Amino acid sequence: MFLTYRLIRLTKLFLLRFYGVAMVSGAAQAVSEALANGFQVEPEALDLLESVSDRLDVVQLIYEVARRKKEAGKDAVISKKDVEDALPSKFKAGADVQKAEWVDLKPEFEVVKEPTRHINPLDGAKGFQQLFKSRFQKLLRITKQRPDSHQLRSIRELQKGNGKKVAGLLLERRMKKNRVELVVDDGTGRLSLSVTDDRLKRTVAELLLDQLVVLDVEPSRDGNMILKAVHQPDLPDRAVNTSKKRVYALLISDLHVGSKTFLYDAFHRLILWLSCKVGKEDEEVVHRLQYMVIAGDGVDGIGVYPGQEYDLEVADIYAQYQILSELLSQVPKRIKIFIIPGNHDPTRQALPQPAIPKKFAEPLYRLENVVILGNPVNLRLHGVNLLVYHGRSLDDVIASTPGLTVTRPALAMKLLLKARHLAPIYGARTSLSPEPEDHLVIEDEPDIFHSGHIHVLDSERYKGTLILNSGSWQGQTQYQANMGVEPTPGIAPIVDLSTLDVMVRDFTRPFV
Ligand code: FE
Ligand code: ZN
Repeated sequence: MFLTYRLIRLTKLFLLRFYGVAMVSGAAQAVSEALANGFQVEPEALDLLESVSDRLDVVQLIYEVARRKKEAGKDAVISKKDVEDALPSKFKAGADVQKAEWVDLKPEFEVVKEPTRHINPLDGAKGFQQLFKSRFQKLLRITKQRPDSHQLRSIRELQKGNGKKVAGLLLERRMKKNRVELVVDDGTGRLSLSVTDDRLKRTVAELLLDQLVVLDVEPSRDGNMILKAVHQPDLPDRAVNTSKKRVYALLISDLHVGSKTFLYDAFHRLILWLSCKVGKEDEEVVHRLQYMVIAGDGVDGIGVYPGQEYDLEVADIYAQYQILSELLSQVPKRIKIFIIPGNHDPTRQALPQPAIPKKFAEPLYRLENVVILGNPVNLRLHGVNLLVYHGRSLDDVIASTPGLTVTRPALAMKLLLKARHLAPIYGARTSLSPEPEDHLVIEDEPDIFHSGHIHVLDSERYKGTLILNSGSWQGQTQYQANMGVEPTPGIAPIVDLSTLDVMVRDFTRPFV
């Protein structure tokens, strides 16, 4: 099976080479057009044509030169001056050809926070105790930036009759017929509450189990506590960071290379586009594109779920990464590529995930413009803070929150931002590692929050932050069909880092 796959791929690579050759000889082709039309081209004019041929259709340019010369009734020798005169204005500056402002842009990035070297799991129960203690403290610190936080008391103090405001992790939420029961713990004690007010019931339905909540309470006449208001750590109102230069980031995820449903053609078209070989009208966009971020599930992996072998085209993890890196090696080297693991990659599944090990993805490590990182990761790209997280816990958020569906993953991501935690729910589908420090607290306020995993392209703005779920490059699998997931593969979101605006390009069809 692998052999036929390679054969198909080789044919495609050959076509690509063929394209490549045709491109390089653009200036030569222009000259032969000119000759065929009875013109001669001076060597200096040819040099000039060659120097602009990667940014301009030189055949069209030579036609324009020829038209002007015929009109003016001039001789049939094309000089450097003739070519200069016909160049679009952005290429002119004195006698020399001026490069457009976007030709020399370079990536300016920083990996701000990355889990791989900080992973240090402890033993089971004790580890989880420490993890939750760290979670509580980190989230409390975020909460204390609220102006009314001086009123916060511990649950023990509250139970002695002091104070009306507590913060704790939400341990239980039980929906009863006409009320919701909550249990909150802050390490000093546990507080049980029942909520009957309709507006508050809707608010608490949005809370995620094991997240931090701040509760305003009042004792009732019968001695129980009544909930007055609920707050979450949340994002503050603030101005988001944007890039001073107009540069773009391509945010993708979930390629699933190796799967029978990996959309080779669409992904290959994306790479041709990044090399300006198709979709030429996007030349400027492509040149401004400095970053490509892959938020996990680059390959389909092996043995990820029962019966996966029937869905695999390439049932060898090394070959899967080999194919992925052959594809990524065709991306222009000026573009920085960041790759984090997802639940299909061969690295620890419990969060946070260390980077994909070199032993599986050796060819990826050899690509000079590729940076291989853990999940989640905080990046700064041209001054814009990006939080990249595969998104495994979105399954749990969607399953446990009334009204959320897989068609709007960005809304589930919004709840994670409000909770300031990437995977609060403990004991559901997402496994957490018993680390002494909770690396999944969203400590830094992201300007962009990028996830995948759901395979549905979706975006949302929340308090200025761009929330983006980046879709996939895999057609619908049987599993997704059973789960009612309709993916939106082959459509790539591109973010303008100077505005955080998103544009999309559809790579599922050939460019015309
Ligand atoms: Fe995936
Ligand atoms: Zn996934």
